[in-house]
Amino acid sequence: MAKPVPNAAVDFCYEGDPDLLPVDEATRRIAAHMPVVGEVETVPLTNALQRIVAEDVISPVDVPGHTNSAMDGYALRGADLPQSGERRFKVVGAVLAGEGFDAALEQGTAVRIMTGAPLPEGADTVIMLEQVEVQGDEVVIGAGHRRGQNVRQAGEDLRRGDTAVKKGTRIMPAELGVLASFGKSQVTVVRRPRVAFFSTGNELRSPGDSREFGAVFDSNRYTLSGMLTRIGVEPIDLGIVSDNREALRRALQKAAERADAIVTSGGVSAGDADYVKETLEALGRVAFWKIAIRPGRPLAFGLVGDAAFFGLPGNPVAVMVTFYEFVGPALRQMMGERDPRPAPELSAKCVSKLRKKKGRTEYYRAVLERDDKGKLAVRSTGKTGSGLLHTMSDANCFIVLDDDAESVEPGTVVNVQPFFGLV
Ligand code: AMP
Ligand code: MG
Repeated sequence: MAKPVPNAAVDFCYEGDPDLLPVDEATRRIAAHMPVVGEVETVPLTNALQRIVAEDVISPVDVPGHTNSAMDGYALRGADLPQSGERRFKVVGAVLAGEGFDAALEQGTAVRIMTGAPLPEGADTVIMLEQVEVQGDEVVIGAGHRRGQNVRQAGEDLRRGDTAVKKGTRIMPAELGVLASFGKSQVTVVRRPRVAFFSTGNELRSPGDSREFGAVFDSNRYTLSGMLTRIGVEPIDLGIVSDNREALRRALQKAAERADAIVTSGGVSAGDADYVKETLEALGRVAFWKIAIRPGRPLAFGLVGDAAFFGLPGNPVAVMVTFYEFVGPALRQMMGERDPRPAPELSAKCVSKLRKKKGRTEYYRAVLERDDKGKLAVRSTGKTGSGLLHTMSDANCFIVLDDDAESVEPGTVVNVQPFFGLV
């Protein structure tokens, strides 16, 4: 199996019991050690949505390919336009989109032209249909028009040789169209990283199984599957792994053989970290962090074999927050995406009171909406427990208060990360 190119020397400081690691510092350490997928593949344009462009794509032609009319109307020589009063033009033909007009336009003549049709040689101006008076085989045109109006120049959108889509761009609908606009039918993209994921916990059951008293349905594998799919990797679902050394070792080995990255949930909090720690240390180089973030404090990161490893907390909201903040950007970096950061933040007035401790970054599930004056306002969905997954479904954004922030009174302007960026 092709492997990503690992970064140079991997050098983790194993923190015994570190102080809380700031979010920025954790992000920096992850970014410094993420492997990058080196392989590329060529795919039909129709399959290229959400893929990452592996090399600059240059337009081999001008777009548009020919100077053409932006309106239905009459094409003429701008020099013939009247400065004042009116002037008559003899209509010598018509040209539709997709056709050509084979003669050069003579002085004082006009050609009826449809939107998109190439301008006849000599013509440089189009007068809209609605602004002319047709009299037999002539049109009468008044003053006040500008030479060159209603014309799209060849190469106005892209010149031959221009970089149309830069290396590292995620192909979205606009890029699909841009690539099509110069006839590109195949595009070279980065191979999708394979990401293996599993849930850990003896208490977990899969939806569809029966659930005895005390058992918990595994929701993390479903949120992870959704987020991995949306970010554009190839997810490999390895199911539920029970809390024992041998099962964990086998699952990690299998994951490392098949995947470029591994994402697990559960088993990294202080209570259960010990055997997980030993197992991970035996298979790779993994650091266990306590991050100054809420929800989502414990996080393990490192390499298992050649695969990047993320051990996320077990609590379902913490899984989504840590994915959003750490795993998503790291996988985007792995795919070579140019700007792998989470969605840009907006500012909005917070109408809720938020309790906050200084010295950690807190993510509040919230709803961004317009107040009765039409201004953006954001309110907390209420309870903040990190097991309350339904609040993620109620919310459409996070309010993010950084380390320095303290409790927020209603009316304060806060930073908001809308979920449309939540991969
Ligand atoms: P842990 O980090 O393994 O101690 O788990 C913390 C909490 O999250 C416990 O209440 C677990 O039952 C819960 N939890 C862990 N994994 C999952 C999962 N895959 N789906 C739902 N809840 C989970
Ligand atoms: Mg557990």
